[in-house]
Amino acid sequence: MNLFEDFGLDNQIVTTIKELGYTTPTEIQEMSIPRIIEGKDVIGESATGSGKTLAFGLGMVKQVKPGQGLQALILTPTRELTEQVTNSLKQLSRNLKIIPIYGGVSIEPQIHNLQRAEVVIATPGRLLDHMERRTINISKIKLLVLDEADRMLDMGFIDDVEKIIRICPKQRQTLFFSATISQKIKHLADRYMISPSNVSAANQVDPEKLKQVYYNVHKSMKFSLLMHLLEQEKSGLVMVFCNSRNTTDFVVKNLKANKINAIAIHGGLSQNKRTNTMELFNKGKVDVLVCTDVAARGLHISNVSHIYNYEIPKDAKDYIHRIGRTARAGEKGKAVNILCEYDYDNFSRIRREYSEFSIEKVENPSIKVLNFSVETSYNRPARFGRRPFRSESSRFSNGPRTSRFSGSNESRRSESSRFSNSDGPRRSFNRSDREEGTRKRYFSHRRT
Ligand code: ADP
Ligand code: MG
Repeated sequence: MNLFEDFGLDNQIVTTIKELGYTTPTEIQEMSIPRIIEGKDVIGESATGSGKTLAFGLGMVKQVKPGQGLQALILTPTRELTEQVTNSLKQLSRNLKIIPIYGGVSIEPQIHNLQRAEVVIATPGRLLDHMERRTINISKIKLLVLDEADRMLDMGFIDDVEKIIRICPKQRQTLFFSATISQKIKHLADRYMISPSNVSAANQVDPEKLKQVYYNVHKSMKFSLLMHLLEQEKSGLVMVFCNSRNTTDFVVKNLKANKINAIAIHGGLSQNKRTNTMELFNKGKVDVLVCTDVAARGLHISNVSHIYNYEIPKDAKDYIHRIGRTARAGEKGKAVNILCEYDYDNFSRIRREYSEFSIEKVENPSIKVLNFSVETSYNRPARFGRRPFRSESSRFSNGPRTSRFSGSNESRRSESSRFSNSDGPRRSFNRSDREEGTRKRYFSHRRT
């Protein structure tokens, strides 16, 4: 099968899909759509950007009939995703009343809109709020979708999600979509799905299309290296990922000071500000979007040529989400990891969990050391103590400060062994391991 016509869909929707410019189904679509339109429960696993929305969107088109009240409920973890999914689904069906529901904005218009809703896309918190106020009636739901299920659970929505599922009618179709399927999701599926089909197009990062590299620098050189790469590499839109809001603000501030057209997006910004930011970026009025994982999850951004990981995410799944922002829909992309000591643990974890990735080490270029301003609120990650960051150049000219890890085996070990992904899953030592000096050294950098 390789055309949308082959799924046995109505002519009208096939035409709509063509109008949207999609010619062939993506892997996850090919695997999940036949089961979805049969009305089966499905757990679908595939990376960000692989077209999951259309898969459950076709379920919506199949199940929901105009004029029969609220029949489909789609849960998403963030406001942005709610907006995005709403827009995508509206493109699929112009005659269904599709209503987004999320917190952080006035509830009154939502109450009004809900009266005519046939499909609701919602974040769990605000949805429960409506349920408590009895401003939504979910007793006729035929289709329930958990989109970005892993993220939803990571964000602590499990109790809310369960509460919602339990109130939905038992006679329904349930779909879970996620970039990764965790144990928690499996448990949830055991409790609330009926003989679900598992379909997975996981780890579909195409090495031909996505190049992954890493640099290893002293932490005082991270910013200068980022600047250098932004200037050297020919790129389109760029996303820079940080692990915290503070770092995000710090990076943006200093990029701007260096005349880079950058903007931040993180959970601390108001809804309006976030929406405006996304518009600027999507229209190409901003070149670099600096963001945290939560803010970036699932955003529809096309033409991202480069992903920079200014900090390596703690959760390996976030790495997948991050790199999934580029090399979309056949385009080429590059993911650049800027490592310093505090990233080693996280980076090793990614190498271990996704040992199939080849992430090439690049030698450090000779770079100009930049003077940059310091945000008083910017602190280095807590484990490096409480002292605020001082100017990079002043710290650099004093030579790199001795870190708590320097002088250990680690700093003397070669790069290749440090991040080797050939050391297999984590295991405890037994005596023979201890006798094998090399093996012991492989593990010695893990400080957990
Ligand atoms: P996911 O939910 O898996 O992250 P999305 O559903 O947001 O992915 O889709 C990512 C992008 O791919 C969207 O811009 C969408 O319009 C596009 N897309 C979806 N299906 C196809 C297809 N079959 N062919 C080409 N592009 C597609
Ligand atoms: Mg999605």
